[in-house]
Amino acid sequence: MSVKTRFAPSPTGLMHIGGVRTALYAYLVAKKAQGTFSLRIEDTDQARLVEGTEEDIIDTLKWLGLQFDGEIIYQSKRMDIYKEHAQKLIGAEKAYEKDGAIYFKTKKEGKSKIVDLVGNREIEFDNSAQDDFVILKSDGYPTYHLAHVVDDHLLETNPVIRGAEWISSLPKHIMLFEAFSWEIPQYAHLPIILGTDKSKLSKRHGAKAALDYRQDGFLAEAILNYMALLGWTPPSGKEVLSLDEMIEEFDLADVHLANPVFDITKLEWMNGEYIRKSQNSKLKSQIWEFLERRHSEELIEKIVPLVKDRIKKLSDVVPLCDFLWETPEYDKLKVESKKEILIKILEKMEGMEKPWKADIFEKTFRELADELGIKHGDIFQLIRIAISGQTVTPPLFESIQILGEEETVQRLKQLIAMW
Ligand code: GLU
Repeated sequence: MSVKTRFAPSPTGLMHIGGVRTALYAYLVAKKAQGTFSLRIEDTDQARLVEGTEEDIIDTLKWLGLQFDGEIIYQSKRMDIYKEHAQKLIGAEKAYEKDGAIYFKTKKEGKSKIVDLVGNREIEFDNSAQDDFVILKSDGYPTYHLAHVVDDHLLETNPVIRGAEWISSLPKHIMLFEAFSWEIPQYAHLPIILGTDKSKLSKRHGAKAALDYRQDGFLAEAILNYMALLGWTPPSGKEVLSLDEMIEEFDLADVHLANPVFDITKLEWMNGEYIRKSQNSKLKSQIWEFLERRHSEELIEKIVPLVKDRIKKLSDVVPLCDFLWETPEYDKLKVESKKEILIKILEKMEGMEKPWKADIFEKTFRELADELGIKHGDIFQLIRIAISGQTVTPPLFESIQILGEEETVQRLKQLIAMW
């Protein structure tokens, strides 16, 4: 039988970073088996729907490159199907109506059990503990339990990959499958992701909506790679894997039962790795897009080799390089006492033949430092501050080349004129 998986988010909030892992694993399982991966929007809880979140889910999958097959399935468009199935259960005396809602009549004897693909473990429940439960609400919408069973049966989902928070609802689902005389699909319940303090991952841990990471300068490939490793170790032991490599190596049987810990520091490290191994031309486009094409592509092209080893996120380019396109602010920097030295530096710069050459530039200012009795490092740092208003920039001479001799001289003049 062909493998069909689905990602089935509820549009009740922005797609959380944790949802990325669920979607990714479902995608990997499908692609590995040359099956299909679909997107099902579970929009049946009318009170909890949040406008715009459905688009957010779609945009997130698109950004990550987790392309789903076929049309999006909306549960809200399948109301007749749920109603019909609820009626069938009433007809078979397995459900009943009370106050306008339809309840499933649970059996009280025996046990419900499955073998979960994660950890290959048996999960068993005593049916005696299961109370009757609502399958169709009085507003005509199905509950998750009915919609899950009906949809995943009719759409032939196998395996069902979802978060471990659904384990406690399993007996309801097993009983429903049995009531319809349908085969129970295989399940893979993914262990809940924790924060570094070992409590359930939340905003407190810096966890955000997936697209906020794009905003923060993370690369889609790094996010996918990091999330893939949250609870899975590839047999090859590789730590940096492309989506294709993940497809090749992934197996639900290798997913750990232990709860993985989301560590933003590790994600930043991985993002930095991706940036470093990016081709310059690709990184140029990524930085250019990230900066909303506000600067010329040529400028970004020059910046890329200078920042590549110095940034962990695309956004790190801003504090490092914004002096290249903005007039620096000197307020906080105490260079006032250095006015005399700055005047000397300016004189040297004005005397240097253009275009300035790296070796001559260096020699000129080393000599000036000796002359003034100050450290070589200090004079270059002073020039850095004078042109950028910052203590950290890409390499000085390369930065000056991007800025241009005239602008460099201009900035020194302006700074000197401040006192
Ligand atoms: N709508 C459910 C959720 O967002 C889906 C669970 C499932 O994959 O079946 O948690």
